[in-house]
Amino acid sequence: MKLPPNLNVYVSAALFVIGAYAVALYIGLIVWTFRDIRSRSRDVLAHIMSALLVAVFGLPGLIVYLLVRPKTTLAEEYDRTLAEEAVLHELDAKLLCPNCHQAVESDYVICPNCRHQLKLRCVGCARLVMPDWDVCPYCGRFQDEGSGEAKVMSSEPVTDEPVSVAEMDDMTTAADEPAPSEDEGAA
Ligand SMILES: [Zn+2]
Ligand SMILES: [Zn+2]
Repeated sequence: MKLPPNLNVYVSAALFVIGAYAVALYIGLIVWTFRDIRSRSRDVLAHIMSALLVAVFGLPGLIVYLLVRPKTTLAEEYDRTLAEEAVLHELDAKLLCPNCHQAVESDYVICPNCRHQLKLRCVGCARLVMPDWDVCPYCGRFQDEGSGEAKVMSSEPVTDEPVSVAEMDDMTTAADEPAPSEDEGAA
């Protein structure tokens, strides 16, 4: 069997080209991984570890990286936050009167347009409650149907301590303190 005289040269050239491709691919994978992790994480340690993973293990390392990398990029995360905020703002802005559908603020008691009762003020703690709630969630007082007045829970023990008019005034205006249950408060 007679080999061509310069076969060695051809084989060397082919090996060189293949080797060059392999090296370029290897470096390309590392660079790609480094850029990819930088777009997904701000953690410098994660950047180094990901690049090292691919540098040491090559293609299998890249597969492992693809499996464990953060799902979303920082840009996508930012976009999602913006979208969520926009939705929340829209919800805030679109608080409408159920009667006339005019825009109202969340702390309005009565619709300024149609005078629809939007909220009630609890006479126990003076905080705003919904008209259809029969008990104040803040101080526990039962609210009278429709009138906006509150009456005392009958099952609650009544304190013997007499309450002065001034103290009662305090109770109805204080927004933060839950008022003790008193029979006199129902008047
Ligand atoms: Zn209205
Ligand atoms: Zn209350």
